Amino acid sequence: MNTLDPNLISEFRSVLAGPVFTPDNDAYNAVRQLWNATADKHPALIVQCWDRGDVIAALKFARQHQLEIAVRGAGHNIAGNASCDGGLMIDLSNMQGIELDQAAERVYVQPGVILEQLDAATQAHGLAVPIGINSTTGIAGLTLGGGFGWLTRQYGMTVDSLVGVELITVDGEILYANEAENDELFWALRGGGGNFGIVTRFDFSLVSVGPDVLAGLMVFPLAQADAVLKRYAEWILTTPLTFNAWVVLRAAPPLPFLDASLHGTPVAVIPICHTGDLASGEKLVDTLRSFGEPVGEHIGVMPFVDWQQAFDPMLTAGARNYWKTHNFTQLSPELLQLAVDFADQQPGPECEVFFACIAGVSNEVAPEAMAWQARDAKFVMNIHARWQDIHDDGSHIDWARALFNAAQPYASAGAYVNFMTEEEGGRIESAYADNYQRLVAVKQAYDPDNLLHFNQNIKPD
Ligand SMILES: Cc1cc2nc3c(=O)[nH]c(=O)nc-3n(C[C@H](O)[C@H](O)[C@H](O)COP(=O)(O)OP(=O)(O)OC[C@H]3O[C@@H](n4cnc5c(N)ncnc54)[C@H](O)[C@@H]3O)c2cc1C
Repeated sequence: MNTLDPNLISEFRSVLAGPVFTPDNDAYNAVRQLWNATADKHPALIVQCWDRGDVIAALKFARQHQLEIAVRGAGHNIAGNASCDGGLMIDLSNMQGIELDQAAERVYVQPGVILEQLDAATQAHGLAVPIGINSTTGIAGLTLGGGFGWLTRQYGMTVDSLVGVELITVDGEILYANEAENDELFWALRGGGGNFGIVTRFDFSLVSVGPDVLAGLMVFPLAQADAVLKRYAEWILTTPLTFNAWVVLRAAPPLPFLDASLHGTPVAVIPICHTGDLASGEKLVDTLRSFGEPVGEHIGVMPFVDWQQAFDPMLTAGARNYWKTHNFTQLSPELLQLAVDFADQQPGPECEVFFACIAGVSNEVAPEAMAWQARDAKFVMNIHARWQDIHDDGSHIDWARALFNAAQPYASAGAYVNFMTEEEGGRIESAYADNYQRLVAVKQAYDPDNLLHFNQNIKPD
């Protein structure tokens, strides 16, 4: 292919501040890796951009030489869309600038920033952006798809805190978008994914959090899960928005506070995070404890930044992963029973079924206010099949799909695009529901040739 002519690549290198990797570079294999090992892709070229000039040059080069384009933040997306076979990966992971303006209550974030870096920068001032719960996740993909975590009940989705973006269009134009300027583009970027251009800066408003919170885990044997979760499902919706508790059904990891005899046995883990006053948080924990007989507990006051990293050891890169997701307005006893039954039959020790509670401020926003529309969702389920050996692909994927199908009758409209491993026929369209056609129009306006198609793709008109 003409584009791989070494002279062309040298010429391309000469206009860039950042490095270019081709398959003959020693570092190529390390640089091309994504979080999910099932996405094993080999781009022809990887450009590690240092600045927006590099992004513009990379887009121009890809267009001139008809190379497919994949855009990478931190490479966490389960679908592996941050890379492609044979095309150009525009890797933004080195663009890690964060600028915080305390007086304006704003933080300006480049697209290679991971959550750990953003939490560290904001929590140094007792501030935060409501983001996800795994510190190695990229802010770019998380925000563009919606974004939720421990603070979502109280402060909404990550996109609810997004106040502006700087973006490079596929034609290489630099645009700023917010509610006043390029407002239709801004509307689409708040949940519509990487469909409309390459974001080179995210501007967020800030809220006050911690820096200490009451957080930790309560563990019940799976045999008690049915009874405990039925009470949890109604109770959690009555608790203050400063309190959040999720449900994780899985084999007990070898946590130091669990008796060794429990390691590997099926359990229901309830992780909690409370940003309000300690006394009220402790009372809520007492109530939760009374729902059953916990076999282990590790809850206390800790820095929010530490809690944000608590799950990192179980979510390391390099494993094989397959996810399926639904939204729910309530967790019915039938649904919970189903989840418990499937958790009891999970095909491997690293799989889990989790229910994240997002009930609160997010439910008060109109569905048409921005692309992310599932404003009735109070819970998000992720069926997370995770394993190491390629020979176990079938059993794990089948398990995730079977639970997904069985849970379908209880699901509410929409779905979280950031938890979709693959398009399954109309699922992206249904994820955006009534907002889909408006997204198609924005796509048509900003990327009519669908050059940015390695994403949860919204096709132009
Ligand atoms: C272990 C783990 C934990 C997670 N926990 C949470 C959680 O708690 N809450 C939550 O909401 N989500 C969570 N997620 C999902 C996460 O939000 C998505 O995987 C997200 O896509 C990750 O962003 P990234 O930048 O790392 O992804 P990448 O794979 O780098 O990018 C994903 C896609 O985003 C687009 N993109 C990336 N950067 C840009 C850019 N600058 N401009 C335009 N398009 C761009 C591209 O289409 C790309 O394919 C988790 C994921 C993992 C793997």
